Amino acid sequence: MQSFLPWQASQWLRLQEARASDRFPHALLLSGPEHTGKRQFADALGQSLLCQSPLAHHLACADCTSCKLLAAGNHSDMVSLEPEEEGKAIKIDAMREFITAERLSSQCGGYKIRIIDPADAMNTATANALLKTLEEPSENSILLLISSRPGMLPGTIRSRCQNLTFPLPPRKQSLDWLNDQHTANWEVLLSVSAGAPFKALELARQGVFEARAQMVEELFALLDGRTDAVTLAAAWAGRDAAQLLHWLASILLDIIRLGVKPDLVSPFNPDIQTRLADLATQKNAKTWHHIMRKVMDTRKSLTRQLNLQLQLEALLISLADESASVQGGRNQ
Ligand SMILES: [Zn+2]
Repeated sequence: MQSFLPWQASQWLRLQEARASDRFPHALLLSGPEHTGKRQFADALGQSLLCQSPLAHHLACADCTSCKLLAAGNHSDMVSLEPEEEGKAIKIDAMREFITAERLSSQCGGYKIRIIDPADAMNTATANALLKTLEEPSENSILLLISSRPGMLPGTIRSRCQNLTFPLPPRKQSLDWLNDQHTANWEVLLSVSAGAPFKALELARQGVFEARAQMVEELFALLDGRTDAVTLAAAWAGRDAAQLLHWLASILLDIIRLGVKPDLVSPFNPDIQTRLADLATQKNAKTWHHIMRKVMDTRKSLTRQLNLQLQLEALLISLADESASVQGGRNQ
């Protein structure tokens, strides 16, 4: 059984109070930044509403008939609608099936939980198809729409849902929770995930920390003259170039920010902050802005299928040149 996350306690409490006073909304829009656990909240909420003997804080017991049916994936009172493929739109046929199921009576005689995740995967046709259900839901039906881009939803959908927002969790709470999951360099992973804990978890699973550490090491080797731009460009062209350029941009951004504010509190790359602060003092901001622009240009042209290795070479040569001019300057 799922529980709500430590940073979702106030939202949970608010809904349980509404439930206690028989004012539970029939349609909720769970909105807020990506990868912060909105789906886990929706699942925990659904389980809690279906459970026949909830525990403290109204969490599902995992023991009753309803909870056992849910655990076995056999509970028709909890249905979710998702796109067939991540990033694609929800198909109209799937929506029609979902609406038909919404009208069926409850299997266990209680609530019927219907989740749409993400709701912004509805196009105009699927959103219109849902409208009538939102206006006249069947008895005991609870619709949970999840979206990290609620602005993409038609106003007619948004206005028929009660909005429940989930802001980015406080950093300390995310770090405590991540440390409870397993050991990893969460400080860095959370920073490169822009504070979204589930993104940090995903990156840890993909071994991203190791890939980034390698990239950082290679970048410093280039800047110190221990490797050359052509060799490095060949190596990077064979990897996830978009990801490498994203990291490079975040490093340059940190250098630029450190140049303005040497005691920067929340850098994107806290593990190499001292080295980046050093680089920030070695050159004026203009040089870093110039390199940053080149990185952005290279990122844009990635989609245009131009010769990637050549582009990376051009970019890395200019980075190495700038670094050589600094080192030369220091030796004089
Ligand atoms: Zn139960």
